[in-house]
Amino acid sequence: MTTEQKINDVKFHDSPVSAFENALKQFDAAAKALNLTPNQIAVIKEPRRITEVQLPVRMDDGSVQVFKGYRVQHNIARGPAKGGVRFHQDVNLDEVKALAFWMTYKCATTNVPFGGGKGGIIVDPTKLSKGELERLARRYFAELIDLFGPDKDVPAPDVGTNPEVMSWFMDTYSMHHGEFTPAVITGKPIELGGSAGRTEATAQGLMYCVYEAVKHLNLDLKKCSAAVQGFGNVGSYSAKLLYNEGTKIVAISDVTGAYQNDKGIDIPAVFNYLKDHKTLNGAEKVVSMTKMSDPMALLELPVDILVPAALENQITPKNAAKIKAKLIAEGANGPITTEADKVLDKNGTFVIPDILCNAGGVTCSYLEWVQNRMGYYWTNERIQEDLSRIMRSSFNAVLETSKQYKVNMRIAAFIVAIQRVTKASEMRGLYA
Ligand code: NAD
Repeated sequence: MTTEQKINDVKFHDSPVSAFENALKQFDAAAKALNLTPNQIAVIKEPRRITEVQLPVRMDDGSVQVFKGYRVQHNIARGPAKGGVRFHQDVNLDEVKALAFWMTYKCATTNVPFGGGKGGIIVDPTKLSKGELERLARRYFAELIDLFGPDKDVPAPDVGTNPEVMSWFMDTYSMHHGEFTPAVITGKPIELGGSAGRTEATAQGLMYCVYEAVKHLNLDLKKCSAAVQGFGNVGSYSAKLLYNEGTKIVAISDVTGAYQNDKGIDIPAVFNYLKDHKTLNGAEKVVSMTKMSDPMALLELPVDILVPAALENQITPKNAAKIKAKLIAEGANGPITTEADKVLDKNGTFVIPDILCNAGGVTCSYLEWVQNRMGYYWTNERIQEDLSRIMRSSFNAVLETSKQYKVNMRIAAFIVAIQRVTKASEMRGLYA
């Protein structure tokens, strides 16, 4: 078996870390604080349904390529399964299970009435033509069509997918059922029932948490510096929103490398560069910044705020002690391992955990789903009002819980969320 085929492991440096095992350890710490019984744990910890599909696709040259796809529904006690679909070459079942698990507890942390799910296809979408990508997306949705529905399971974008892919998913479902069904998908283009504010919602939600966190930590965003790992949907808008607040962004990165300027990177100029380029590759020739020799060193820079917004397992025991940021806002899902959390706790780093910090996306998805079901659409002002209220009050509920139980923000978020999932699960009882 080659390293690439070791599909249950997510690699970090040389040591494999299971994202799902990491997720379960987070759960266990909160379950212990809550004194949950083994029966309560058994009902809500593991995924409810795991589906794996083979997806044959006619390529442009006439050949047939078979891709592997997954959909995991982790829990549906509080509402339909909810969670994105990832197109990435490193997708594996362990990762999809972890991501579905985090969705259950993310929705519960912000009290959005959804359960948790996640999907993925093992594919490098950059290597496919638009036609190939559309055929793959439609085949995935058609193959799993019985799982999906506005009251069953509602997918959304994740790494490697975007509003265009969501349009193909929604159209496949609508054609199959003979009726326009926008509420089966969120993250759609505005023209097809998407919500105002959805594109930036995850980063905007992260910012609402950051506003509350800097108040708590007595920091001033105008005097802060920040580093942002990942420059996709979450990373780029987080960098832009921080920049707009006067925070000095000293480093950014994407899959092509990390770029640094201690005097501050001109983020609007980077956005301008990306209008004509897919990645940050070569941006240092146009925007004043230098390419770092080790992209992972971005995480260890002496900044006030660190935003990991790429992939999971980036901060591990190998680099945790070298992290200097006072505040880490987890844009990505699972960027810090449980062992690394312990090191950060000891060093007094304040972490806004993923299931709270990046919940703005799913919160806005919920608002999109509500609008689809009403057939009435709100302004961005109305969306921001709700998003700000939900994110800020969720942050403060988690902060209070962390003080009450004397635990870090991650365990506190799980305590808030697990209580809600357990309650719903017990009130529903067992169908038999
Ligand atoms: P994206 O595909 O838009 O962007 C991912 C970015 O990460 C790209 O810039 C890519 O080049 C970069 N990247 C990939 N590997 C990297 C590496 N090794 N080092 C540095 N950069 C790397 O994805 P996204 O939607 O921004 O999602 C990013 C993270 O946020 C994921 O963990 C995702 O699950 C999570 N998330 C996304 C949303 C959302 O609404 N998009 C919501 C919640 C959580």
